Amino acid sequence: MDAAEFRRRGREMVDYVADYLENIEQRPVYPDVEPGYLRSLIPTEAPLEPDNYDDIIKDVERIIMPGVTHWQSPYFFAYFPAASSYPAMLADMLCGAIGCIGFSWAASPACTELETVMLDWLGKMLKLPEHFIAGTHGHGGGVIQSTASEATLMSLLAARCKAVRRVQETNPERLEAEVLSKLVAYSSEQAHSSVERASLIGGVMMRKVPTDNTYAVGGGMLKKMLEEDRAAGLIPFYVRKDKKKNSIHPVHYHKACVNDLCAGVFQFCATLGTTSSCAFDHITELGPICNEENMWMHIDAAYAGSAFICPEFRPLLNGIEFADSFNFNPHKWLLINFDCSTMWVKKRQDIIGAFKVEPLYLKHENQESGRHWQIPLGRRFRSLKMWFVFRLYGIEGLQAHIRKQVVLAKEFESLVRADKRFEICAEVVMGLVCFRLKGSNELNQLLLKRITESRTIHLVPCQLSGLFVLRFAVCSRVTDSGHVQHAWRQITQLSCEE
Ligand code: PLP
Repeated sequence: MDAAEFRRRGREMVDYVADYLENIEQRPVYPDVEPGYLRSLIPTEAPLEPDNYDDIIKDVERIIMPGVTHWQSPYFFAYFPAASSYPAMLADMLCGAIGCIGFSWAASPACTELETVMLDWLGKMLKLPEHFIAGTHGHGGGVIQSTASEATLMSLLAARCKAVRRVQETNPERLEAEVLSKLVAYSSEQAHSSVERASLIGGVMMRKVPTDNTYAVGGGMLKKMLEEDRAAGLIPFYVRKDKKKNSIHPVHYHKACVNDLCAGVFQFCATLGTTSSCAFDHITELGPICNEENMWMHIDAAYAGSAFICPEFRPLLNGIEFADSFNFNPHKWLLINFDCSTMWVKKRQDIIGAFKVEPLYLKHENQESGRHWQIPLGRRFRSLKMWFVFRLYGIEGLQAHIRKQVVLAKEFESLVRADKRFEICAEVVMGLVCFRLKGSNELNQLLLKRITESRTIHLVPCQLSGLFVLRFAVCSRVTDSGHVQHAWRQITQLSCEE
């Protein structure tokens, strides 16, 4: 393909994409295919001779689209949103064209510098404390990670490294492996599975703090758990596998070793906007405890973080000043296509110091870059998407998008509340409604099965207080009241009685 053909095909592709998105609601939101459907539709080997472009495009409709779950459909109400907007898609094209791998300032100065400035813009939109903003006298700054899972892992590894160094400063004879075996991190029992995975990957124990009746962790609960762990000698910095049940249990640790716990307690991961029900941990209570205990507080606000650009939601972020790191996904709710997960740290040195390796071939005079903040070396020019979207929507446009989706969620909530057969299962704060038919879990499982099989709307479940609950998340940029009303009619038609 030469430049002339690229121009022609590029225009065609833009038309195809615009048509796809304009007419997306005519497609069944959930595909009607069985696992393995695709293998039988394509050759077993890559073509030796070049294929024809028109044939590829025909195959997109024949092979790919039948197997696509249409996340941008206004009838997609599953998981959380996958942000999408035209400016972000155009910026992504430009990113592909520039095609740089911005692992250092020298590898592409604009890539490194725009990212730093965009994280400052966004940090200021969220009214983050000054110490998180790079362009100030503070010691912090922001970086784009691919996903919230990666941000959580990076924070855990940085906290782990800090804890090991702290212990070794006073006890130089302690081996790193010995200290690591005693580390324990805490998170909410409602935290996303990626938090537990971070502890598995990081090789440290994670304790789950129970939540209150709003599915949030308060200061009292964390404190109680820390005290109990300390007092009882049930200190989970050593774990054993229960051979019979094949499960992990904390082991009684000898009282004489209790003092070692200050080496053990090293991180708390709070969630603002839990995946199941969009609950908010009480970080104004948790923050001071973490600071007192010398625990790194990481805040995972993967979905809800975008809403903090609206003054009416910003109070939910109060307490951020106690955090060591904070992350959310503009690729969920801020109209910036995947991947764009933004992470800020209070002290750059905590994260850079933990992961810095400097081979000669990567050295240059201006060392500033994001590669010390993440696992991969390579970095795409993802800040272009942020720049295009922020400039073309403006803060007001982005706030309008958030507010519209919250209003739609409230509209759905009213529909549910007006029908005596259903109940709301958690407070509706943002764009997520947790609801169920009054009755057994089986009844609700059957309802969801019927919804999924109808392919007209798409929802996923969660479990709250042992109950099978349906999640209705307003996701698509183009969802409006008509779609919400249609979805509710579908749900009531498909609902059944015991
Ligand atoms: N944390 C929370 C609260 C989430 O809701 C999710 C996903 O929905 C994640 C983390 C994981 O996000 P990612 O796919 O960016 O790792």
